[in-house]
Amino acid sequence: AGKVVPPAQPRVLTISNQKGGVGKTTTTVNIAAALAQFGLKVLVIDIDPQGNASTALGIPHHAEVPSVYDVVVEDDELAGVLQECPDIPGLWCAPATIDLAGAELELVSLVARESRLKRAIDQYQREPGAAGRFDFILIDCPPSLGLLTVNAFVAAEEVFIPIQCEYYALEGLSQLLKNIELIRAHLNPRLHVSTILLTMYDARTRLSAQVADEVRAHFADQVLKASIPRSVRISEAPSHGQTVLTYDPSSSGALSYSEAAKELAAQGTKIDE
Ligand code: ADP
Ligand code: MG
Repeated sequence: AGKVVPPAQPRVLTISNQKGGVGKTTTTVNIAAALAQFGLKVLVIDIDPQGNASTALGIPHHAEVPSVYDVVVEDDELAGVLQECPDIPGLWCAPATIDLAGAELELVSLVARESRLKRAIDQYQREPGAAGRFDFILIDCPPSLGLLTVNAFVAAEEVFIPIQCEYYALEGLSQLLKNIELIRAHLNPRLHVSTILLTMYDARTRLSAQVADEVRAHFADQVLKASIPRSVRISEAPSHGQTVLTYDPSSSGALSYSEAAKELAAQGTKIDE
């Protein structure tokens, strides 16, 4: 197995799936934590007004905290809202506060309403603040396709889709792919689905295996070999303000997220043995 090297160009991924509760946030924070543990510089941008990613990373995000709202609505610099995770050096978060719920409407009347997040990221990467330039930026989206999600699609080059190995897993997927096509045609020609991760895999059920087979048949090149098991440790970690990688490092959940992150980092790079 090769070691994990930083990507030649920084990678910006939006973690997306128009279903709620499929593991978007869980995947965002745990993949980010694993990448940071490999020594990479990683930023999680929490663009979901619920702020679940901020919570899971142990980052304060009450109403007074500088947040993604200030960046996309008030034009503040990204550097001014970044917080480092208490227990994972190299992992940073731009938190979401409740104001973001209103941003959806406020954005409508602003100039360049679809590309405000992209502008902030580009500006930061050109002139990095205290956190340094990021190797990976992962954007945790709300389930709806509003202007916040559009901002994430415009800022990213890659879409990372977590798919839950359950009934109706593929429902909504064709709509998501259509929306990505629309964004590509009108706003961001570089956007593409680079990565699919099977989550909440239950090895005891035929259904999980069937969903996994079907997804692998359709998206042979994008699906990571590692899949994430259904695991109580994964679901417990956020209530401790931790990712499963620090909450229970030897658990199957931590190991599988680490494997998945290693595959993600290796995409498109040659690894020296
Ligand atoms: P989304 O962001 O897509 O709405 P979440 O990441 O918040 O989804 O996950 C939904 C729920 O499922 C959360 O309660 C989370 O803790 C739980 N969950 C996510 N992944 C797993 C897993 N692999 N095993 C067990 N529970 C999980
Ligand atoms: Mg979420």
